[in-house]
Amino acid sequence: MAATNPISAKQFQQRVLNWFKQYGRKNLPWQQNKSPYQVWLSEVMLQQTQVSTVIPYFNRFIKRFPTLTTIADADLDEILGLWTGLGYYARGRNLHRCAQTIEKEYAGKFPKDLKKLQNLPGIGRSTAGAILALGFSKYAPILDGNVKRVLSRFHAINGWSGLIEINKKLWGLSEHYTPTKNVSDYTQAMMDLGALICTRTQPKCKQCPLQTHCLAYNTTNPTNFPSPKPSKKLPTRSIQMLILINKQREILLEKRPPCGIWGGLWSLPECSVSENVKKFSEEHYFCKTEKPNKQTQIRHTFSHFHLNIEPVLMMVKKWHPPVMESNRIVWYKIGQLNEKGLAAPVKKLIKQLNKTSLL
Ligand code: SF4
Repeated sequence: MAATNPISAKQFQQRVLNWFKQYGRKNLPWQQNKSPYQVWLSEVMLQQTQVSTVIPYFNRFIKRFPTLTTIADADLDEILGLWTGLGYYARGRNLHRCAQTIEKEYAGKFPKDLKKLQNLPGIGRSTAGAILALGFSKYAPILDGNVKRVLSRFHAINGWSGLIEINKKLWGLSEHYTPTKNVSDYTQAMMDLGALICTRTQPKCKQCPLQTHCLAYNTTNPTNFPSPKPSKKLPTRSIQMLILINKQREILLEKRPPCGIWGGLWSLPECSVSENVKKFSEEHYFCKTEKPNKQTQIRHTFSHFHLNIEPVLMMVKKWHPPVMESNRIVWYKIGQLNEKGLAAPVKKLIKQLNKTSLL
């Protein structure tokens, strides 16, 4: 079967734009009253997350934070609370830092310059490109997961996109095909094509406007592209998580340090699996407890390791802290926990416990 590339950039754009006119998504919440602020917020949420998951989060955020200033002025805890469940919490923290930087350095207005945008917290080249293209209708290529997939297949590019030379090649193609006119529609069209037609599994090639010139479709199996990341076995770590409950039915929460896993979120005290939890609770959290009650282990997987969590429930008889040096530790009413930015497994554990007679 004959391979069919090449196609001119103009023809490529025309096909994609014609398809978009008829089939593209025009009713996403962030497309209504579109502004650089809405584009930024949605793009940050869409990093590593699907549209259907993002929509309710976006709606809640826009309702609570209708402008960039409202995010900049908000308490990080509140932002992380609203972010709970969306994962990759560094995005929530960066959202806050980014809004504050724009307020301070750019008088509350998004800069229209790629380099300046890329220097802001949490904004990479593709997100910066999307803000320019979708928010300002300014020429700027993007390379999010959807665009990467379409271009990798259209040109049957072998090799994982995390490799510098492959990444460079894909950016080169994105630059080549991105038009200077209609850049906003084109950018949205490429995202939609990847999300609706050139899907990860079972792409709908028969409905694709690029099919006649697509190398992957015409020469091999499209799902061979993009090349997967070379797999490596994830290591496993294990910890105990302490669910300390006082007589007022409050649970002890501890604020995580700002960096690292679950940075800035509220979590349960934790210790190694070899630790004596009774002694540990007394020494570190000043709690005299009843007999520990081990709960079923749960597993949480991060991009770089599996975390086995052994929950231990302990009813606190006495709590005798020295003068508290900070507000790092709080007792929190179980019914109000949704107001806090909680680490995902903590939320899960508490939900599970709520269903039992233990709480
Ligand atoms: S023809 Fe198929 S593989 Fe090629 S770009 Fe279109 S949907 Fe993707």
